[in-house]
Amino acid sequence: MATESESLGACPECGASVPRGAVLVEYEREGARVAYAECPDCVEPVRPR
Ligand SMILES: [Zn+2]
Repeated sequence: MATESESLGACPECGASVPRGAVLVEYEREGARVAYAECPDCVEPVRPR
């Protein structure tokens, strides 16, 4: 059985999948979830989508 690790989304810079564990800050703004996480490839904060 495969275990899927939860992902926040793809890095807008390089397209890498950003794991949920890399999240730096997450909040709700105007009803939408906004999350910033450190991309494993860019090694800098990005907003996954
Ligand atoms: Zn990236």
